[in-house]
Amino acid sequence: MTSPVWHPFTQHGLNEAIPQVDRAEGAVIHCADGRSLIDGISSWWVTTHGHCHPRIAAAIADQAAKLDQVIFAGYTHAPAEDVARGLIDIAPPGLAHVFYSDSGSTAVEVALKMALGYWHNVAEGRRVSILVMEHSYHGDTIGAMSVGERGAFNRAYAPLLFDVVTIPFPAAGREQATLDALEAACAAQPAAFIVEPLVLGAGGMLMYPPPLLRAMADICARHDVLFIADEVMTGWGRTGTLFACEQAGVQPDILCVAKGLTGGAIPLAATLATPRIFAAHRSEDRARMFFHSSSFTANPIACAAAAANLAIWREEDVPGRIAALAGRLTAGLARLSPDHFTGHRQTGAIAAVDLKAGEDGYLSSVAPVLRAFFLDRGILLRPLGNTIYLMPPYCTDAQQIDRMFDAIAEAGARFA
Ligand code: PLP
Repeated sequence: MTSPVWHPFTQHGLNEAIPQVDRAEGAVIHCADGRSLIDGISSWWVTTHGHCHPRIAAAIADQAAKLDQVIFAGYTHAPAEDVARGLIDIAPPGLAHVFYSDSGSTAVEVALKMALGYWHNVAEGRRVSILVMEHSYHGDTIGAMSVGERGAFNRAYAPLLFDVVTIPFPAAGREQATLDALEAACAAQPAAFIVEPLVLGAGGMLMYPPPLLRAMADICARHDVLFIADEVMTGWGRTGTLFACEQAGVQPDILCVAKGLTGGAIPLAATLATPRIFAAHRSEDRARMFFHSSSFTANPIACAAAAANLAIWREEDVPGRIAALAGRLTAGLARLSPDHFTGHRQTGAIAAVDLKAGEDGYLSSVAPVLRAFFLDRGILLRPLGNTIYLMPPYCTDAQQIDRMFDAIAEAGARFA
């Protein structure tokens, strides 16, 4: 029987296998047909401490029995208050206000609206344009797509998207060109610059070093251009520190977090802002308020999961686990032959290589072939074109990492 389910980012015409997953624990997901798979990409970069972490599962169950949902306009609840305070404690300095939403995309929408709302309220909207980085991905809602790379992801929806000014990605050797382009674009007084700090994820796991992030933030500060750090993917330890901005000593005006905010168990996002952004919206004039909401803003069950995640970060040696995992990824990458792979790269717990075969880009025909190859070997990987990357949960052990690199090496020998 054909399923009525329409899957995301899936070409149903290719008739690829769509395994049914029944349960998961740690770094492993279990399928209904009895197969077990190592989750090499943290189920789309969300699972940090491992699937079904007992502390997060218990927090969700307790909260679901106590307060499931309440309107958040004009009402509040303890989980939302606790998580907001906890986020401010651990976020880069200078951020003091937390606005909740439901996904990384909406965290970005909120950030863009905050930036434009700020300039609307303090300067009658004289600054309206948004600067973005080439190859960026910020989500699939209209604003998030507008500030992302134009291409296969969004070509059909171009009439819905607004124009932005694009700064080149700072590839090795081209760093100064990026800084010069940013400086020139900032001189035109845009509203904000939005960027993925240190690693551009869906754009191909493209990496650049902390001093460049710092230099970009400094240019924005000099021109009073709001700096929006989209840490939806890079947050929660992926780059080796809790937030990537820490490595560059960058204090963004606006910070987007999602995915691992709940340890990856349940959807929740937050957009953090400085007192200056909040103050521009705070007044007795109702027309200056922040006009954004969704039905489930700050859902108590999701906030309880986030509170449990924050407690895990406070009380357990998560940085130690990330460091151990990063070491294993470094060793694994070193095993991958330059005959078959190029562009070996790693930032913290994210490792990537490019297969010397097939085209890059999301529509590359090699990606589904590789996906099926890894599935056959009991591994959940989802290459971006010919870029094979690992972003596993922090509980993934040495043996599981070895199995994944064995399979990647085999794919190199087979396809490159
Ligand atoms: N921003 C970045 C940097 C992302 O990597 C993603 C998703 O991968 C998003 C935003 C969108 O997040 P979501 O898929 O939760 O809407």
